[in-house]
This record gives sequence, structure tokens and C-alpha cells, in this order.
Amino acid sequence: MRVALFGAQGNVGSVLAPALEAAGHEVTPVHRGERPDLSGHDAAIDFTWPDAVPANVTYCIENRVPVVVGTTGADLEALGVLARERGVAVFHAPNFAVGAVLMMRFAADAAKRMAKAEIVELHAETKRDAPSGTAKATAALIGGDTPIHSVRLPGLVAHQEVIFGGPGETLTIRHDTTSREAFVPGVLLALERLGELPPGLTVGLDALLGR
Ligand code: NAP
Repeated sequence: MRVALFGAQGNVGSVLAPALEAAGHEVTPVHRGERPDLSGHDAAIDFTWPDAVPANVTYCIENRVPVVVGTTGADLEALGVLARERGVAVFHAPNFAVGAVLMMRFAADAAKRMAKAEIVELHAETKRDAPSGTAKATAALIGGDTPIHSVRLPGLVAHQEVIFGGPGETLTIRHDTTSREAFVPGVLLALERLGELPPGLTVGLDALLGR
């Protein structure tokens, strides 16, 4: 596929660009302030900043290019409505790491038996949004008012613990992303499935992974 990559120089983008090329895709890197000619492009990917997402994604929708949004912390609802009106698919996953999706599934399962839980999410100090999209999605899956604690420090990549507590026991479900390569297979899967998705916004890698 021919793919425009918004944020190609960022932490994720700089890992993603060579991985996409290695998988046989042709990548057009898009840097801040650029509005590339999207004709001939099959898809776009956005790993930028939350405040850059509305303009980037609107530009893609207006050019009828489906988009995979990795950036977290942006409000995608209105963009989803626009995408549906224009017949364009927009896919967003708060976490493209397969292990993180499993961590969320296991947490949802545990929540059926252990009602009280708290989430600790730990990320690189450069991450702009808090709490993380993954933590918010996990809290929504668990239900109730699950407290979320956010840690931002150098040396971290992306980590999350879901700690359940019951009488006389705790259960901790933990996922660690040790390198940004973890996001590559999920993004490749999203690109592969983008053509089958309905117009408008689809959220969550879980929907693409199957059971
Ligand atoms: P980063 O290192 O700060 O990189 C973001 C890049 O976006 C920067 O290189 C910046 O360009 C560029 N940028 C900013 N505005 C732009 C615009 N309007 N058009 C094109 N490029 C623009 O951030 P990161 O660590 O790669 O993370 C990016 C986003 O992905 C964050 O929201 C993060 O939370 C999210 N994320 C999601 C997942 C997931 O699985 N969903 C995984 C990891 C990260 P300059 O270099 O010119 O400043």
C-alpha cells in the first residue's frame, strides 16, 4: 500500500517507517506543517500529538484516504461523524501492542470475580496525555469508577498494571512495552483490514484480533 505517515520523525514514527517499508508498503513521511498531495495513497497513519489530530485526520478524510490513528488523547467523535458522512474509514486503537490487548481482556475477565481494582499506568516523560488511552479503555471495560494513577518518567516506554484486591488476596495483571517495535504488528494488521471496515470510526485492536 502507499501510506502517508504523519509524525514519521517521532518516537513511534521513526520505528514504524522502516518497518512499513520492510513489509512492502511505500511510505510518504509527513512532518509538522506539511500538507502532502495524497492522490494515489491507499491509507494514512497518524502518530503525532493530540492537538494535531483533528486537522491531520480531517485533511485525510477530505482527500478520501482512510486513516489509522495511533495518537492518543484526541477527541475522535466528531471526526468519526465526518468520516461516516464522507464514506471514509477511520481506525483508532489506544494500544497497538497485542499483549496490551490481552492484558485488557484478562482484566475484564478478572473484574467479573473481583470487584475492586486500581490501574497504574507508567509512560515515558514525553507522553503528553494522562491518563493514557489504554488506562481509560481498561477502566471502561472493568466498569465502575476505577481509579487510574499516572507515572511519567525517563527510562519508561509504556507499562500498565491492573491490580485487583479482595479479602486476603490481590491479583496483578501487568503488561510492559519494552520497545516501540511492539506497536508494529498491530499497525500492519490495521492497514491490512482498513478496506473491510465500515465508514466512520472503529475503535480498538480487539475488534480486529478475533477471539
Ligand atoms: P513524539 O516522539 O512526540 O512524536 C510525535 C511526532 O509528531 C513529532 O515528530 C512531531 O514532529 C510530529 N508532529 C506534530 N504535529 C504534527 C503534525 N501536525 N503533522 C505531522 N507531524 C506532526 O511522540 P510519540 O512517542 O511518537 O507518540 C505519538 C503519539 O502516539 C502520542 O499521542 C502517543 O501517546 C501515541 N502512542 C500511541 C500508541 C498506540 O499503541 N496507540 C503507542 C505509542 C504512542 P516534530 O518532530 O517536527 O516536532
